[in-house]
Amino acid sequence: MATRFEIVLHGNNPVSLRAAGEEALDEIERLEAQLSLYQPGSEIAGLNRAAHERPVRVTPALLELLRRARALSDETHGAFDITVAPLVRCWGFMNGTGTLPDPSALEEARAKVGMCHIELDADNLTVRFKRPGVMLDLGAIGKGYAIDRAAGLLREAGMSSALLHGGTSTAYAIGRPPGGARWKIAITPPGNDATAQPLSVVELENESLSVSAVWGRSFRADEKTYGHIIDPRTGVPAENALLSAVVWPGATESDALSTALLTAPELLAEFVAHRPGIRCLVVGGTAAEPQVSVHGIEGAERF
Ligand code: AMP
Ligand code: MG
Repeated sequence: MATRFEIVLHGNNPVSLRAAGEEALDEIERLEAQLSLYQPGSEIAGLNRAAHERPVRVTPALLELLRRARALSDETHGAFDITVAPLVRCWGFMNGTGTLPDPSALEEARAKVGMCHIELDADNLTVRFKRPGVMLDLGAIGKGYAIDRAAGLLREAGMSSALLHGGTSTAYAIGRPPGGARWKIAITPPGNDATAQPLSVVELENESLSVSAVWGRSFRADEKTYGHIIDPRTGVPAENALLSAVVWPGATESDALSTALLTAPELLAEFVAHRPGIRCLVVGGTAAEPQVSVHGIEGAERF
């Protein structure tokens, strides 16, 4: 994840607040060490090295997370897919800021992407890749998962008012801040102007907001901007939206769904139909002339 996580806690006892906050941050660090494909000792790196040769045993928690990732991939018709890693690498986003790929390398990478290449054995707690070259990247769901786990620990420690975020792209609110109103999070419009008028100010209480954006990591070539979120179905960086946001009771799902929505903005109507209570927005068009599709997020329709 290689991301900065922050926690704001309210309560009367500074000692217990500090202890709960530190426990939650330790859990996030532990999960990063388990899930990051960039850390050679992580469970994911271990799978990426060996799961095409033999079934590899994983912890029950990781198997469960991979099952949830598969369900989210099914729900989004493949727009969210943790097997996207060969494409992320091919487009130069794995250890860099992106480059145009060689067409034959791109075709090769595409052949390695798809949840159909992954076998999850819940009885034996093993994962197997059905072909060489398959690689997992939990970058679009890991932050949300870590935040859900950290929020669970904070609740267990008796915390009733807290805000957590990872890299400002996924935030989760426990309860309300002192004073009665809900937690407020601003969504900045597409572009890099931090002083721009917010697209919307989203209010949260016991729910999560995730935002995905093209310019989070991107490069320009041939007058086009190519971002780090790639459509696994076409092999090309998402080009139908500039920014997406999802509000949902859990951060694991809001994280995955916002990534899916950036890739496939047409999913907005399906989410609204099948996930009662979801709030979401997609900004398409161009930064100069944005077109906003929105459901339940106040203010954004003015743009
Ligand atoms: P997020 O910022 O949560 O939208 O996640 C973006 C990150 O997830 C990227 O930097 C990639 O590591 C990975 N990724 C890119 N495209 C996809 C995709 N279509 N499905 C799942 N993960 C993706
Ligand atoms: Mg995401």
